[in-house]
Amino acid sequence: EIVEEAAGALDAGRLLPLDAFWRTVKSVLRLKPIRFEDRRRNVVHVLSAHEARQWALPVVFVCGMVEKQFPQIHRPDPFFPDSARRQLNTSGVRIRTAAEFEREERALFDSALAGATMLATLSYPEFDARGERNLPSLFLDDLFAEPQQSRAVRPAPRRLFSAPAPPAIVASDLLPLLLEKTRRVTPSGFDSYLQCPFQFFARHTLRLRPPPPRPEERLDQNYQLQGEIIHSVLAEWWNQPQEIGPLFHRVFQECCEESQIQPGYHTERLYNAMLENLERFAADKRWPRAGYHSQTEMQFEFPLSDSVCVAGRIDRLDTAADGRAYIIDYKYSVAKNVRERKHGNQLQAPLYVMAAEKAFGVRPLGMFFLGLKGSVEYAGWSETALLDGDPLPREWQLDVGERALRIVGEIQNGRIEPLPANPDHCRFCDARDICRMEVSAALTEAEGA
Ligand code: SF4
Repeated sequence: EIVEEAAGALDAGRLLPLDAFWRTVKSVLRLKPIRFEDRRRNVVHVLSAHEARQWALPVVFVCGMVEKQFPQIHRPDPFFPDSARRQLNTSGVRIRTAAEFEREERALFDSALAGATMLATLSYPEFDARGERNLPSLFLDDLFAEPQQSRAVRPAPRRLFSAPAPPAIVASDLLPLLLEKTRRVTPSGFDSYLQCPFQFFARHTLRLRPPPPRPEERLDQNYQLQGEIIHSVLAEWWNQPQEIGPLFHRVFQECCEESQIQPGYHTERLYNAMLENLERFAADKRWPRAGYHSQTEMQFEFPLSDSVCVAGRIDRLDTAADGRAYIIDYKYSVAKNVRERKHGNQLQAPLYVMAAEKAFGVRPLGMFFLGLKGSVEYAGWSETALLDGDPLPREWQLDVGERALRIVGEIQNGRIEPLPANPDHCRFCDARDICRMEVSAALTEAEGA
């Protein structure tokens, strides 16, 4: 229609190059109002009072009938009073006066009521945001209708939804790819799956990464990078004891250069916080360091079955002369999170204990998560009750391999359901914009309704 209109506006007998014709089409397109007929029935149109003047609707709700909001109060302008406005009006300059504003508000109210062909409901909130009682609008005083108490309602769905089967990969040509991708799984991969199968799918199968952070967020919002800096400093410091401040300064500068982190207030703030946390750790003498030979950043890989192996890295392995060892995992987290991790359902700790035995040939004596942010927190297990550690759980030896293989089996069977074990952690998840968690939660709720 627009192309025809553009052609009609041009000289029919003249040949035009395409780009000239296209310019005309674009002009017509810009000027022509395009109206789509909205045939939807199950919608509520939310309109301003001005927009509502054009509509006639069977049922109209006018909300916010609160004094001073509808009608709005127009206070006299001390620099441009009504008397001056009236004078200008009599001289032919059209300027609205307070009385005209009031008439306009009244006209809006009347047209909102007149637009309802079946039912008009006028409502106002009884209390404002501070909990103080609202006064109803003056317009309500003029109505003859009796006020009615509001009724608590919860619309019932017209039909019960049956939740669709959870999303899964079923295509026969894709399943072998999943087999391939799960030949080598990391402990953090298992924990990601236990938090949410879709998170594992996005992070480890598809290897999706979030967009690079903005320059000002490269360190401030980047907890992974902060953790990496702390890990690098501790790996070097534990092997070669030295002043931790200068060492941290060097590692921090290298990281800023490599990741192009801008100097500024937040960088300085984080620098000081990290330094303070590291100095606190360096001064903490609770760990019986002298009795152990330490190895840091230990890469491992061991088989779980003929086709699956576990690979990862242990931050620190402290081995005693008799071959018994502690596994230490640094966490740049606050004490509460570290304690929660100890009591969680994750597989990292049992898999590290398994790795110490299978990949490094030591006898595990304990495993600690070591929290460094805000305080030095050891949360873990110890066969000698070191630092109040609980004994290593017996079931780790019995079923950790089985649990891990069961998870691998589910991944290989195509399970990618967005089902977070802890929904509070969804806000930290890189896949939160693509997993359609709200949709899946709404369907679950509808199913339960
Ligand atoms: S945001 Fe939550 S539901 Fe979505 S993928 Fe991440 S963990 Fe799963």
